[in-house]
Amino acid sequence: MAGVTEPVWVTHAARHAHAAPIKAHENVDVAVVGGGIMGLTSAFHIARNGMSVHVVDAGRIGEGASGLNGGQVIPGLKYDPEWLAAHFGGTRGEALIQFAAGTADAVFDLIGQENLDVPHNRNGWIQACHTELAMDAARMRHRQWAARGADVALLDASEIEKLIGTSNYHGGFLDRRAGVINPLAFTFELARIGEAAGAKITENKECRKLEKSGDGWTLTLASGETIRAGKVILATNAYSGNLVPGLAQSLVALHSFQIATEPLAERAARDILPEGQAVSDSRRILVYYRRTADNRLILGGRGRMSMPRRADDWAHLEHAMARLFPSLSEAKIEKRWFGRVAMTPDHLPHIHEPEKGLVTIVGCQGRGVGLMTAAAKRLVDYLSTGDPDALPLPITPIQPIPFHRFRRIGAAALIAWYRMLDAIEQ
Ligand SMILES: Cc1cc2nc3c(=O)[nH]c(=O)nc-3n(C[C@H](O)[C@H](O)[C@H](O)COP(=O)(O)OP(=O)(O)OC[C@H]3O[C@@H](n4cnc5c(N)ncnc54)[C@H](O)[C@@H]3O)c2cc1C
Repeated sequence: MAGVTEPVWVTHAARHAHAAPIKAHENVDVAVVGGGIMGLTSAFHIARNGMSVHVVDAGRIGEGASGLNGGQVIPGLKYDPEWLAAHFGGTRGEALIQFAAGTADAVFDLIGQENLDVPHNRNGWIQACHTELAMDAARMRHRQWAARGADVALLDASEIEKLIGTSNYHGGFLDRRAGVINPLAFTFELARIGEAAGAKITENKECRKLEKSGDGWTLTLASGETIRAGKVILATNAYSGNLVPGLAQSLVALHSFQIATEPLAERAARDILPEGQAVSDSRRILVYYRRTADNRLILGGRGRMSMPRRADDWAHLEHAMARLFPSLSEAKIEKRWFGRVAMTPDHLPHIHEPEKGLVTIVGCQGRGVGLMTAAAKRLVDYLSTGDPDALPLPITPIQPIPFHRFRRIGAAALIAWYRMLDAIEQ
């Protein structure tokens, strides 16, 4: 596709083929459709629990959002603890807050415990505020997490300028539980430890049909083979098709675009994000950015809903980078890529079990690295025990969005409107 390059992560992540044969009458305890962070982490835990598991992916491992994302590992959900407590109530609300607080731990603990070869650092995430109103929200977020003992801080204008290297912000919220990883290396390593634990993984095997058969399921692949499984985890998220009626229509799959500079000169590398935090700003159409292990700046944000056609389709991100860091206006942009992010109308992830033994979780709102790593363990616990309290969120029915067919037009109009409001507030 014109203008698109490989993601910047490929230089630090070794790709291996995953081609486990699919035997005639293949029969496993659990089949997993989709080999991203959710599918692969689930397969690892299933295999470690001594059950047989087969993962199929329509493409290559790492070609979904898990290998394309910004690698920001941010705990929490879009909502703050008090909202979650009020919305979900009592024990369920408290359990969800605990879960949300620990999603970044799930990633960094796995990297440490399994000795994963994943470039990473854990110096925190900054939510950078572009208005005083956004600072009020940051104060509220800080108060709520600090009251729960989280390692968080509020930054004033001069502190944030020192940490980011730009005078664009009023201040911000620093969450030291967060960090950054190379997400493609993480995804590849999840596949490696899954296979080492006994999971089978087969790439380039699209699942075309899911049918209940007896007390289990039959998966029919585009290649004609079938897999019988006691249970199924559907881990297709923003790339969901029509395997389960209404699932894709319950989401808006937005495009997130990213650019990466060439490795920065020593001076720029010293001035911009000197401690290596990840940043998202507080705009409605936000940009997020970080440095890589080889000192490139990568910056991402919303992109056009249709397929990009030329390098110019990333120009809005180059302008955002130049606005934040004028010293980089001449830096060469070496990489441009994009992927799909699954959004839900209520901005929460959703867990569905449309029929007994078929579970899925969708809708990470761009925060799936930590969320899916942590949720996969819970989903596997649920499949093993049948106890819905093992899950971080209640199981809900799939609710297709009315007029979903018009989502592209609607999302494009909303993005244009939000961009205008953001511009007025600068
Ligand atoms: C550009 C971008 C930047 C992002 N930045 C961040 C970030 O910085 N931090 C963060 O936390 N999150 C971020 N996200 C979100 C995060 O990447 C996702 O939430 C997360 O990777 C989802 O993982 P997953 O395993 O659920 O889905 P995916 O990794 O998307 O995997 C789904 C897989 O399902 C496969 N599939 C689909 N249909 C079929 C089928 N019929 N048969 C077989 N296989 C099928 C696909 O090929 C795909 O590999 C970003 C996303 C994008 C796109």
